[in-house]
Amino acid sequence: MPAPTSTTKPAPLKVAIVGAGPGGLAAAIQFRRLPDVELSVYDQARELREVGAGIALNQNSWRQLRELGAAEDISQYHTRQTEDKVSVEQRIGRTGELIYQRKVSGNPDQPPAVRIERTVLQRALLNRLPKDLVQLSKKLDHYTETDAGVTLTFKDGTTAGPFDLVIGADGIRSAVRHQAYPDHQLSYTGKVAFRVLIPQERVAHLEGIPQAATWWHTPDTHVYTLPLDNGQFEIATRAIEDEAHGQKVSWGQIVQDSSRVKAHYTGYTKLIRDIIDTVQDGEWQEFALFGGPLLPNVTRGGRIVLIGDASHPLSGAFGSGAAFAFEDAFVLAKVVEFARAQGKTQAFALDLFDDIRQPRFEYLYSVLNHGGANLKAVRDEKLEPDAHVKEVIRRNWAGEGRKPGDQGDQIYAYNVQEVWAARERDELEKAAKVAKPVEVEKVTEQLAAVAVAA
Ligand SMILES: Cc1cc2nc3c(=O)[nH]c(=O)nc-3n(C[C@H](O)[C@H](O)[C@H](O)COP(=O)(O)OP(=O)(O)OC[C@H]3O[C@@H](n4cnc5c(N)ncnc54)[C@H](O)[C@@H]3O)c2cc1C
Repeated sequence: MPAPTSTTKPAPLKVAIVGAGPGGLAAAIQFRRLPDVELSVYDQARELREVGAGIALNQNSWRQLRELGAAEDISQYHTRQTEDKVSVEQRIGRTGELIYQRKVSGNPDQPPAVRIERTVLQRALLNRLPKDLVQLSKKLDHYTETDAGVTLTFKDGTTAGPFDLVIGADGIRSAVRHQAYPDHQLSYTGKVAFRVLIPQERVAHLEGIPQAATWWHTPDTHVYTLPLDNGQFEIATRAIEDEAHGQKVSWGQIVQDSSRVKAHYTGYTKLIRDIIDTVQDGEWQEFALFGGPLLPNVTRGGRIVLIGDASHPLSGAFGSGAAFAFEDAFVLAKVVEFARAQGKTQAFALDLFDDIRQPRFEYLYSVLNHGGANLKAVRDEKLEPDAHVKEVIRRNWAGEGRKPGDQGDQIYAYNVQEVWAARERDELEKAAKVAKPVEVEKVTEQLAAVAVAA
């Protein structure tokens, strides 16, 4: 990082992070590395419970986990494959017919695409932070802005602040977003997800279970199956439920009666019905899936910023919400550090953040919209169910109808460190052009330092 242009020590920056999910925890790790930052972290949860099922880690996730110092804690939970293997399969749910397979490279120099339990990820991040940093049972109600900063008011009536910077990392139903962008509406997608992790022994007697991550489709629902490296077996499904149901199901609600889940998948091939039969009452968790449109920006008034699911409610579309949140946390810490070092305002830092992150999310939303248009086009063809499924797989999974230029690389291999390094060079070059003669030398030194670091 370049040396500060000013010799006066900046006042401590008071930063509050609302939400201690993967995004909030990553931001906490990043901001604790910055000098002169006073950090407070709040979460509504009474305890950071072990909820959730499997979570996907791709190249972009691993790059960030290494950056956060958390990769080693996670590596022990999966086996590194040494040769190419089938990583993804797409099948017709009704018959089990295989339509598409993708192989993953066993190149040991490439980070593996794996799924681990969300709790393992959360623990690895928490291990990088002091034990009592996260203040629990602090559900944000609203914030108030004055000249002194932003004050947080929690549902329990207590307040905290004023803060110079409030990071809304409070997930898809973000209270910070709700206040900062009152016109932005989340809507129920019409679908719920049922998810569970069970011991693999439970399905060991069933023959023909694919070892790859496998999607079994009907036109309106799907079932996802995957044996994890740690002996667990993951099942994640989508089902249609009406608006009234979706609105009342909270995130991760236990399903007491497993027959309610089974009822959605009676038309599936016997193997899937048998797998689903092994899940007992009280084991499934239900997640109502909500999404919202792309925000035009994610910062407000130079003091409020949204990261992770709070900033881009993509309704889990890419299975990479944690990685996107890590990228946000990385860039946010970098722009704040950069602005302080350059004697620029925090508003400058947050504008820079928007400028760097907005194209990323414009791209992700465009992929989502393209996939949605494909689904609509197939629906309009009014094919019989299995032909419908084949056509959707052909267009959205086998790459043939994908957004031009994308085979997943722009999503999962995205290198946010390189994006930031290039932008930092640009900003320093811009500064060099407008710098007064006495400052030119300093900026030139900083550019040289960045070039060496790169
Ligand atoms: C309980 C849960 C289980 C999940 N399980 C899976 C899974 O199994 N697989 C998967 O792929 N993805 C899962 N996700 C989603 C995935 O974790 C996110 O896409 C990704 O981690 C982005 O993280 P985030 O930090 O932005 O948001 P989140 O992970 O949603 O974290 C937000 C945090 O903010 C807190 N919070 C919310 N509102 C307030 C408030 N008003 N005041 C204070 N704190 C607040 C929440 O308690 C939570 O800790 C899950 C999310 C949650 C919350």
